[in-house]
Amino acid sequence: MSDSINEKVRCLIIGSGPAGYTAAIYASRANLSPVLYEGIQPGGQLTTTTEVENFPGYPEGITGPELMEDLKQQALRFGADIRFGIATETDLSAAPYKITIDGEKVIEAETVIIATGATAKYLGIPDEHKYAGMGVSACATCDGFFYRKKVVAVVGGGDTACEEAIYLAGLAKQVYLIVRKPFLRASKVMQERVFNTPNIMVLFEHNTIGLFGENGVEGAHLVKRMGESDEEKVDIAIDGFFLAIGHKPNSDIFKPWIDTDEVGYIKTVPGTPRTKVPGVFAAGDVADPHYRQAITAAGTGCQAAIEAERYLSEIGK
Ligand SMILES: Cc1cc2nc3c(=O)[nH]c(=O)nc-3n(C[C@H](O)[C@H](O)[C@H](O)COP(=O)(O)OP(=O)(O)OC[C@H]3O[C@@H](n4cnc5c(N)ncnc54)[C@H](O)[C@@H]3O)c2cc1C
Repeated sequence: MSDSINEKVRCLIIGSGPAGYTAAIYASRANLSPVLYEGIQPGGQLTTTTEVENFPGYPEGITGPELMEDLKQQALRFGADIRFGIATETDLSAAPYKITIDGEKVIEAETVIIATGATAKYLGIPDEHKYAGMGVSACATCDGFFYRKKVVAVVGGGDTACEEAIYLAGLAKQVYLIVRKPFLRASKVMQERVFNTPNIMVLFEHNTIGLFGENGVEGAHLVKRMGESDEEKVDIAIDGFFLAIGHKPNSDIFKPWIDTDEVGYIKTVPGTPRTKVPGVFAAGDVADPHYRQAITAAGTGCQAAIEAERYLSEIGK
């Protein structure tokens, strides 16, 4: 980390998804003069989707990019200083905390709100990108509604995959659960729920190698017992393909200072965005292995800004 301190701020927000922008709205209205760095994906994950139908306040739905632009404009209206830049290094050993931006500029911050999100893991097959937004999704809660009475596949064998399959089974006509191994990694309870759901068919020992369809996903190319002498190619007809093989929280640069779980989600004091470092808060998907929704991210962004304000007033800054 460079020794030169370029700038001192009272509240630094890292990330520009719903959590970061909401924190910026609240922090600016509380006179904290927040500085927000947008990171590599200004507007966050929702900029990669089309319709968002479950964010309260938009009865007709709104596109992800429009929603994020609205949030940004609302934060700008109250004076948030929103900048392009990536936090590349941190020193949270003592307040004020030092955050390096783009490997060169160092910001000294009295409070830090980490809102860096989480990235869904993909299988790595080119068709996932080809059909992004056209039948490929990494969020059943977000997109399941579009597949009512249709046929979908969920990839994964853990608790999340089972949960997503069960959720989708309540909407779709048929759900295939595509599992690479000959067993499910999920807890016994989840496994039982899957096996007891009549419209879920588990395809054990299947790998997805491609997707097909004219104007969107119409099916998946699978291989059963891939690499074995009896390997078999199988095509299934589906309308939607849901990835449920995990997320990677963007928490690496904070790990030396704060606690994370085994996956990398930042641990906070239950019910609050407080980390174990005073004045450092975590909001949104980076600290949320359970819900990962825009509204919950916005909610915790609000909490983080309120906590930052209270912390600063307690320490008299
Ligand atoms: C395709 C898709 C569709 C979805 N649809 C819906 C939906 O319909 N409804 C819904 O509620 N949810 C939906 N979600 C989930 C929703 O997008 C997330 O729950 C939400 O965006 C999480 O917000 P966040 O603020 O925590 O982080 P994110 O939106 O993940 O944003 C993280 C931000 O952090 C920044 N960042 C990361 N690292 C750094 C760094 N080192 N320095 C600076 N900045 C950094 C990134 O640039 C980004 O701006 C969808 C997600 C996807 C991928």
